[in-house]
Amino acid sequence: MVFSNDTGELELLVRDEMGRAADSVAERLSWMFYVADPAKTSFRNHEEVPQYYRQAWPLFLAFAVLENLVLYIQGKPTVRINDGVTSMSHGIILECSKLVSRGSEHWLYIWLHQNYRLVDLPWNDPLTWYIAAICIDFGYYWVHRACHEVHILWAQHQVHHSSEDYNVFVGLRQSFLHQWCGFLFYLPLAFFIPPSHFLAHLQFSLLYQFWIHTETIANLGPLEFIFNTPKHHRFHHGSNINCLDKNYGGVLIIWDRIFGTFAEAKENQEIIYGLVLNRPSFNPVDLQIFYNKNVYYKVKSMDGWKNKLSAVIKGPSWYPGSPWTGEDSKKLDVQHREKFDVKLPFWCNLYLLSHFIVVVIGFQELTLRYMAMNPVVVLLMISYILLSLTSIGLLFENHSYAGIFELLRCVLFLFYVQHFGAALTNPVFLQLWHYQYFFIFSACFWILQCLKVLQIRVKAK
Ligand SMILES: [Zn+2]
Ligand SMILES: [Zn+2]
Repeated sequence: MVFSNDTGELELLVRDEMGRAADSVAERLSWMFYVADPAKTSFRNHEEVPQYYRQAWPLFLAFAVLENLVLYIQGKPTVRINDGVTSMSHGIILECSKLVSRGSEHWLYIWLHQNYRLVDLPWNDPLTWYIAAICIDFGYYWVHRACHEVHILWAQHQVHHSSEDYNVFVGLRQSFLHQWCGFLFYLPLAFFIPPSHFLAHLQFSLLYQFWIHTETIANLGPLEFIFNTPKHHRFHHGSNINCLDKNYGGVLIIWDRIFGTFAEAKENQEIIYGLVLNRPSFNPVDLQIFYNKNVYYKVKSMDGWKNKLSAVIKGPSWYPGSPWTGEDSKKLDVQHREKFDVKLPFWCNLYLLSHFIVVVIGFQELTLRYMAMNPVVVLLMISYILLSLTSIGLLFENHSYAGIFELLRCVLFLFYVQHFGAALTNPVFLQLWHYQYFFIFSACFWILQCLKVLQIRVKAK
């Protein structure tokens, strides 16, 4: 009898756990498809708004696996490891920047709402939730449009367009200044939309825009008329001349239809993804910041303060005498090009993937513990994550200094653990000594590589 009771309780427990897990997955999916329950995602105070984006990371991975499975079945190319890791690295950089800024980019919005709001929309009324969803999406349209039509904002947003592939990983490829790029555009909403709704919907908008980065969905039928879909957004990512400055919508495509920036993708056109002048790089830190130099040189080349100012605030293709976004006849018409790629041997990709996973684990540790950590240690850990992602990117490029850079990175880790290892006790995955041996082994390899005892042989394409 006791045995049967125990079995019954265990069964109930397992069923309970499975039910909870299913509910949790269903709830996270509802955030990603913007069908969240207003009652569960409305809050009185902005401090109560959960980190939806951070909680959705397991779903990002599940979507990536599913997408690649479908691509494989369809006989299409699957994700390139160098490009995919670079995209994920950008996602980590964005999240690291949030650990530093701690939401300070929203301070002005919250202050305006607290002191100068014109109406008090009830925070727990579903109507407020829907009004907020539409208004924030309208704001997003203008933010995104400005990111393409204002040179200094494009210098940040170009990161999102820097991949020559189009897959769900690209949805993670965001500028670390993403949150700051458009905060001015959203301020008018502070006069009536409560900050808690603003912060929740900003995240839902970003989550929705994750899964539309895929070539596996051809079109979504009648939904194409109202919503931003994979088909519309693929066109937005094209560097072909007819794709430029089109389809800015976030969740709804109606804004593009209303304001004249909508374009339907042509059936037989090959979309060339990436920047018009693509940066041949897998170094995420370089890709995040390199374009700012272009703005600087353009300003320097202009005569007179009016032209210099225009070089900053007008479109990337603007030149004196041309319209705001430049003349199409003077833009490069990208038709076909070879993707930037470096074919590394299998073991090298495996090495880089293993170290990237270690970076993800380190980042996970940081997000779990940063509130209780010394800010200096937080900054040191973020710097080390950036250093690691740079090193991985340089190795993917087979850069001439990549070996020595990686060796220094491995030595730096071992030095830090030796002297300050106490701060890293009880990691979530594996023990600290596992990582130490992994880095000692890696460092030995790069010493041999630097001494030219071992060499990475890049495969011919
Ligand atoms: Zn864009
Ligand atoms: Zn996109």
